[in-house]
Amino acid sequence: MSSWATLKIDEKIEAIREAHAKCSGTARTISEKLFELHGYQVSRNAVIGYYARQAEKLKDMPLCGPRAGENKKPLVRESRTHRPKAVATVNAYAEVIEFVPPPVAMPQSRNLTLMELGHRECRYPVDGEKERTLFCGNATGDDSPYCTYHHKLCHGHGTHSERNIDALLRRVA
Ligand SMILES: [Zn+2]
Repeated sequence: MSSWATLKIDEKIEAIREAHAKCSGTARTISEKLFELHGYQVSRNAVIGYYARQAEKLKDMPLCGPRAGENKKPLVRESRTHRPKAVATVNAYAEVIEFVPPPVAMPQSRNLTLMELGHRECRYPVDGEKERTLFCGNATGDDSPYCTYHHKLCHGHGTHSERNIDALLRRVA
C-alpha cells in the first residue's frame, strides 16, 4: 500500500475520482473514502485544495458542499407551512369576486297583448313574436315606457333586440 505523499498528481486525481464515485461527493466523505479504499491519509482541506488546483480535471465530478444537503430540508418545511395559507387567501378573494349583488327583482309579467296594453303599462316584450307578442304590462315609471325593472334592463347592456324595441313595436302596430 503506497503513501499518498508518493503518488503523482494524476494518480491522486484518479484516486479522488474513484473515491468521489463511491461517496456523497463532499470533501469530508472523499477524504474518508480515500482512507477506506487505500489507507491514504488525506485531510478534508487537502481534498478541497486538489479541487481548487485541478479544477479542470475534476470538473465532471464537482465537489459537493458539506452542508448542501442539510440546508435543503428546512427550506422545504418552511414552504410547506406557508403554502396552505396562500391557497386560503386566494379562495377568499375568489368568493368575493364571484359574489354579485342581485339586480332589481324581476316583476311577474302580466303577459298582455298590444291591444290589451294600456296607458302607462310596461311595453317590454316578454314572450311570443310579431302580432302574438306578449308584454310585461306592469306600471311604468314617470318618464319611461317600461316598468322600473325593464327600464334598467333597457338602459343597461341589453341585447340588440331589447335596444331596438321601439322599431319592433312600430312593426307590430
Ligand atoms: Zn316591465
